[in-house]
Amino acid sequence: MFISNMTHFLDEQGNIAKEMQKEGREHASFLALIVDTMTKDYPPSKKNTEIRCLTKKCTGTIDIAVDTKNEFIYWKCNKCSEEGRIEAWQKTKWDNRK
Ligand SMILES: [Zn+2]
Repeated sequence: MFISNMTHFLDEQGNIAKEMQKEGREHASFLALIVDTMTKDYPPSKKNTEIRCLTKKCTGTIDIAVDTKNEFIYWKCNKCSEEGRIEAWQKTKWDNRK
């Protein structure tokens, strides 16, 4: 399982850091999309999203869940075994909660 701390991918302005490798930027954008999607409907009323899995050749999409107690976001591909947990996403620019 990937455990991702969202703030590790961001620069001082809260944007995805430009000096990262392409792969790191892709992963950061993927996490941002999950946070963006999940916080539009928080806590999520459905688990499936249209976010595409990052694994090469995988055609799966990402399912999401949130632990509202510690606010960890869990994501999992519905086809392959990729899964992870996102922390420290609160107050990033993808946090749509009011
Ligand atoms: Zn997958």
